[in-house]
Amino acid sequence: GMIFADSLSRLGTESAFTILARAQKLASEGRDIINLGIGQPDFQTPDHIVEAGIKALRDGHHGYTPANGLPALREAVTADLHRRHGVEVNPDNVVVVPGGKPTMFFAVLMFGQPGTEIMYPNPGFPIYESVIRYSGAKPVPIALKEENDFAFSAEEVLAQITPATRLIIINSPANPTGGVTPREEIDKLVAGLADHPHVALMSDEIYSNMLYGGREHVSLLQYPEIRDRLIMLDGWSKTYAMTGWRLGYAVWPDAAVDHVTRLCINDHSCVNAATQYAGIAALNGPQQPVYDMVAEFDKRREVIVRELNALQGVTCTDAAGAFYAFPNITGTGMTSAEAQNLFLDEAGVATVAGTSFGEWGEGYVRFSYANSTENILEAIARIRKLL
Ligand code: PLP
Repeated sequence: GMIFADSLSRLGTESAFTILARAQKLASEGRDIINLGIGQPDFQTPDHIVEAGIKALRDGHHGYTPANGLPALREAVTADLHRRHGVEVNPDNVVVVPGGKPTMFFAVLMFGQPGTEIMYPNPGFPIYESVIRYSGAKPVPIALKEENDFAFSAEEVLAQITPATRLIIINSPANPTGGVTPREEIDKLVAGLADHPHVALMSDEIYSNMLYGGREHVSLLQYPEIRDRLIMLDGWSKTYAMTGWRLGYAVWPDAAVDHVTRLCINDHSCVNAATQYAGIAALNGPQQPVYDMVAEFDKRREVIVRELNALQGVTCTDAAGAFYAFPNITGTGMTSAEAQNLFLDEAGVATVAGTSFGEWGEGYVRFSYANSTENILEAIARIRKLL
């Protein structure tokens, strides 16, 4: 039979998709399933953005675009970065790709190979570790701990740098913990990196619009001293409820732009043209739909954190960003996987085991609150009965 490459056995996956499939199967068998498993807004893409995509198709935008994205889209990105983070970015450093994931794949392939090390948050977005292993590099986990509200410790990150380190991946606000790393810690990381000029940094800021309790997003773009080795990833999926459109971007350092553009040309040529026009409308149009969605998430966050803390054996930090709560369930006597399976099979509530985000997620379960308050209350009531 066929003989696959060894590298395939090192490629991981994202369990949230497996849980979604299981939940959908149970629902199709007539079970009443509440889905708190999936990492996407439960809102529709705002109308004016949808209309811009339709108009682009009707106007005949059916061909290839530049591989790095339409100039007008890359300019809209830089205007947005100026508005939100107060930074100047050259549109030539922006590379548009189909979603958030391609940037992490390309960045890891650009730096990772056998003999190198790449650091990544654990628990963290599972694709980081997966693609690091795929590249042949050694994955070096950055522990995110509940006692630090799931922020990373700059000291611990810096202490793990070796001559083999090529890339450090950070993510704030974070999936799956909802943790937000405070500015002081980021200041310390950037200051410490001055001693390690061979190390690049990828800052995954896909949840940069989703912070609560008066917190402000700290973008790594605000540190000019590391611009020459910073990859800042963001996109439309979460902010504009556009996960299925497949649109994301990163700001790349000068020395990496040609490399990533060649990766794009080899991989996908360019992002779907109509999607790019929709992306222009999203950034240049009214932002009120974003503010309304975030305000709604904030209300649900208060509800879910309060209700989770009221469950016996469960404690939950206040989840400062993104749209996830990451309760500690060790007091229930269950492992993460046991809790996830029990919640789905017995209560019809889909969640994701903390261990799906790395071994240090043991003892936790991720609840996405991208669902109505009514469904969140019903889900927790069902779990309360179980426990
Ligand atoms: N980065 C993080 C931390 C995420 O949680 C996600 C999606 O869940 C992404 C990136 C990728 O999003 P996309 O669907 O745009 O590829």
